[in-house]
Amino acid sequence: MVKSTVILGSTGSIGRQSAAVCERLGIRVPAVAANRNVGLLLKQVETFKPEYVSAADPGANRELREALSGRDITVGPPGEEGLRAAAAWPGADCVVTAVSGAVGLRPTLDAIDAGRRIALANKETLVCAGEIVMRRAAEKGAEIVPVDSEHSAIFQCLSGRGGELRKILLTGSGGPFRGWTREQTAHVTPEQAVKHPNWSMGAKISVDSATMMNKGLEFIEAMRLFGAAPEDIEVLIHPESVVHSAVELVDGTVIAQLGVPDMALPIQYALTYPERKPGAGERLDLTRLAGLTFLKPDFGKLPCLALAISCAKRGGNAPAVLSAANEAAVGLFLRGKLGYNQIYESVERAVSGIGFIERPSLEDILASDREARTLVEESYS
Ligand code: NDP
Ligand code: MG
Repeated sequence: MVKSTVILGSTGSIGRQSAAVCERLGIRVPAVAANRNVGLLLKQVETFKPEYVSAADPGANRELREALSGRDITVGPPGEEGLRAAAAWPGADCVVTAVSGAVGLRPTLDAIDAGRRIALANKETLVCAGEIVMRRAAEKGAEIVPVDSEHSAIFQCLSGRGGELRKILLTGSGGPFRGWTREQTAHVTPEQAVKHPNWSMGAKISVDSATMMNKGLEFIEAMRLFGAAPEDIEVLIHPESVVHSAVELVDGTVIAQLGVPDMALPIQYALTYPERKPGAGERLDLTRLAGLTFLKPDFGKLPCLALAISCAKRGGNAPAVLSAANEAAVGLFLRGKLGYNQIYESVERAVSGIGFIERPSLEDILASDREARTLVEESYS
């Protein structure tokens, strides 16, 4: 079990839940970093007495610096540098990567270079540069323990059984608009899209869950984490969100991980692994389940999922383009600048319009990421 951890994105949905787990288990938090929520960062400074804190937004960074002047704490610089300094902060065993989006990529690599365990929530990093990240982690001996509930489930089901895997069964609830037609989703508002039936999450991942792009990103995340080929992963719609995912082994045995839908569980496991500690949340009562349903996805109605799987198969820079275009499109949707169905349309345009690179370097990935964002943003400005 880790004794101390940095939290990147400490004020977000996963960040706050990670902070609560650390407080409960007595895990030291020597550094926290976020974007602009100065009020919560200051509360976390009082709770954890960290050695380092940073806010990426320049105005928030100034406010934080003023509020903490004269105190014995390092206030990091704004922008990516502040996150990167937190990621490599000396003396921590682990870094929880709970920022949203590709901004997590370089800090994650820094934490790997520093030999930390990565409790990985920030899936966009693995989607855009998973091969580079996993290779670097293997070279540096840095453990990557997934926080995403499906991947935590697969990780738990697989422990010690790597070579016996036949298939990963990646479950997803189907989101709030399961079964809706394209005509029905045309007028979906940001307020409707961020309300998930089973999970309470940050805005971006909530929209991704509604479009099912999230399951597509998770498909790629699973390939990278577990070295699986696209044909080794099957997506199953499971509206109850009780089976967080499963694996089928070579002899036909299926091992699943079940639990209430509460991110505190996979967060805690990423921090206590390989140990288990008592949990604080609600417990699963199997006798109260009305049933468990598993359906094959209707890819015709889930264009974002189908597009993500085609990018997963294409490889190269395609997942990076997909993820960056999606981040830009979801940002515009949340600001009321484009319609719900246009999220898919703009991501598709970026995927088909941006040049394919078969073996991208980190620089190629960052350039493809910028190109994809610009292409989407310029179409709607
Ligand atoms: P939120 O939007 O709730 O939180 C994002 C966090 O990152 C906030 O602390 C935010 O700071 C910070 N942040 C955003 N941009 C920057 C930046 N440029 N520099 C520094 N900090 C920044 O996201 P979630 O917690 O929902 O998701 C985080 C990650 O975890 C995502 O990759 C998501 O896919 C993944 N995940 C989330 C799950 C969930 O249940 N929420 C489940 C599985 C995976 P501020 O608050 O100051 O703006
Ligand atoms: Mg998930």
